[in-house]
Amino acid sequence: MQRSKPHDRPAVFLDRDGTLIEERGFLDDPGGVEILPTVVDALRLLHRRGFATVVVSNQSGVARGYFDDEAVRAVNGEIARRLANDGVAIDAWYWCSHYDEDCACRKPAPGMIRRAVDEHGLTLDGGAVVGDRGTDVALGHAVGIPGILLPGPYPYEGPEPDFRAETLLEAAEWLALRQAQGDIGVASKRSDSG
Ligand SMILES: [Mg+2]
Ligand SMILES: [Zn+2]
Repeated sequence: MQRSKPHDRPAVFLDRDGTLIEERGFLDDPGGVEILPTVVDALRLLHRRGFATVVVSNQSGVARGYFDDEAVRAVNGEIARRLANDGVAIDAWYWCSHYDEDCACRKPAPGMIRRAVDEHGLTLDGGAVVGDRGTDVALGHAVGIPGILLPGPYPYEGPEPDFRAETLLEAAEWLALRQAQGDIGVASKRSDSG
């Protein structure tokens, strides 16, 4: 594990479909955007705790010819607009447009996270990936951070999640607690081993 610089910001990497918004299956219509319950509260909590929030989304509908990158941008823009109405924001948006090719970014490949870390001065320390599929959990493990699993419509295939949360808020609370315990450990050198 490489040491992070002190000014590096911790980050949470969020899946989009089924995590921030209702899973629609190849959504290309901003009108189909429905923000999931607790997402706004979760983002507030994460920002309050100093986490950058970064969306990492597989959008193979582009490579499959169902829609183009502009459609992905339009849906992302609609999500951002809805969240802004509630006073919260996503810090960065990444997606993989590929499908049947050897790209470095299709989850669980770590390309999107690597890019986000470089482009936004992030640290992986204390962070996690949150999503509703095995590829999200595997993505976390690919870069050495926890994978938090949310309930999803698909049968689960993937590595054992580090935490199963019912909602994004529950995932955010788990991260906040972990962060607080880390702080206590550093500040007072806890002697209890649980
Ligand atoms: Mg998903
Ligand atoms: Zn890709």
